[in-house]
Amino acid sequence: MKWLSYLSCGFSTTFNIIVNALTFGRVLWLEGRVTAGHFRNWARNFRYSPVSFECPTTEQEIIDLVRSSTAIRFFGSGHSFNAGVVSDHTLVSLDKYCGVVWKDLPNKQVCFRGGTRVRDVVKTLLFDGFAFQAMPSHDAQSIAGILSTDVHGTGRDWGWVSEMVVGIKIIDGLGQVHQVGPSDDLFKAAIGGIGAVGIITEVIVQAVPRFNVEQKFELKDVSYVKANLDQMLQDNDHLSLYLFPFADKCQVSTWNRTTAPQSTFASLREWIAISFDALTSAWFGGFMAYAGLLDTWSNWAYGLKRGTDLVMESNEAFNRSIYHLHQELEFTVPYTDTWTECERFLKLFETMYTSDLPYTLLEVRFTPENHNITLIGAGRDRRSCWIDLICNDSRAFDVYYAAAEAEIKNIGARPHLGKFCEMLTKADMHNIHGPHFDRFLQLMAQYDPQDKFANGFTRRMFRT
Ligand SMILES: Cc1cc2nc3c(=O)[nH]c(=O)nc-3n(C[C@H](O)[C@H](O)[C@H](O)COP(=O)(O)OP(=O)(O)OC[C@H]3O[C@@H](n4cnc5c(N)ncnc54)[C@H](O)[C@@H]3O)c2cc1C
Repeated sequence: MKWLSYLSCGFSTTFNIIVNALTFGRVLWLEGRVTAGHFRNWARNFRYSPVSFECPTTEQEIIDLVRSSTAIRFFGSGHSFNAGVVSDHTLVSLDKYCGVVWKDLPNKQVCFRGGTRVRDVVKTLLFDGFAFQAMPSHDAQSIAGILSTDVHGTGRDWGWVSEMVVGIKIIDGLGQVHQVGPSDDLFKAAIGGIGAVGIITEVIVQAVPRFNVEQKFELKDVSYVKANLDQMLQDNDHLSLYLFPFADKCQVSTWNRTTAPQSTFASLREWIAISFDALTSAWFGGFMAYAGLLDTWSNWAYGLKRGTDLVMESNEAFNRSIYHLHQELEFTVPYTDTWTECERFLKLFETMYTSDLPYTLLEVRFTPENHNITLIGAGRDRRSCWIDLICNDSRAFDVYYAAAEAEIKNIGARPHLGKFCEMLTKADMHNIHGPHFDRFLQLMAQYDPQDKFANGFTRRMFRT
């Protein structure tokens, strides 16, 4: 069985790359979508046929849908890793509720409909000479989906897409429309609130002039990075780590704003590098793991990995469009606990490791303090280290995740609600977010008094 799931992960990843190449980067096969009334998310582990499926094109249609439904959930591009996208009755795609509402070019602000994919937001901004100040690692998501899970990147001074948003429009559970900004409680409840207080239908993005970024991937000794992390974070605009179980080396990725010209064939070289990485993780990483060789081969295998150094348009540098088919379970801990907690989850994997566990690595990112525009977002109000447990989407990833989620509860880490999240209850959310969670629940009761936006996933964490 495990070899069948290994092949499925490998072939899905390969097919995705072939489709992307044949369409010159325009199509990703691995995306969440509804086909013939049947929904499946990015990783294809949430597949179901909603009782009713709708694709509204106007604000009035959305309002009418909310008013006439008993239970309703919205989705953008199905890039989350949990059942937040599963509806008890009506599932609504905002894919056709997309595009520009208005532009205010002198102030570098553009208002987009909620279903607009981030890649299309980026194209529109570039056309006018603008860009996002920084971005997370993918651009296939919808701009509203990104805000609903308070999607983060990594940075010394920057951490979230929501920090580049100056206003949103929300339709609540009564079908009423609200225009709110970062100082409003409803805005804070919507950012990271996975649609529990309303549907985000418009987003005003604050852009900056477009710029180039030098993206560097290097392999370094873990001991060196551990000793120098503070300084490395200080020296770079954006930095992340890949930590590998059983290995003395780790990958350090940095992104720095530059006035240097773009590298020759930068886009093609980046595409080849990320496709190679995805294929290696799916085929070679998966083989090592299931053949029981991770503990003995990892040091040798990562020693073969080569770095890259490219200057690109900022959005291309921050974003990687090609991924191997994988699962993610992510949470934050205080920055000061970075190494204790990274080592805890590496050790957990190493201790559990047998040839039954899938290929796994930890992506580690960092965000600054003072993020106070969310009530239950994982990076709220503290300098944070984000630990992302990335497993090939193949057999037994859930076995490691079950053990990891128990540890996450023990240490009171804060979960990313767009990622795998199977165990957390309302009591856990209360322990983690305290009075902010109470305020979130008050707002949810006020703006969705008939529980229209509830589903099994939100009931477990917000209601029972
Ligand atoms: C390859 C890959 C890379 C990723 N990289 C990152 C990363 O770098 N950083 C990070 O933080 N996350 C990352 N993620 C997670 C992902 O960005 C989030 O899960 C995001 O929410 C997905 O956006 P979406 O449009 O696909 O939302 P969906 O998955 O469609 O929806 C997410 C949740 O928001 C709700 N929702 C959707 N639209 C609306 C709306 N208009 N109003 C209210 N609620 C709504 C849904 O009901 C659901 O509960 C990554 C995921 C993948 C698959």
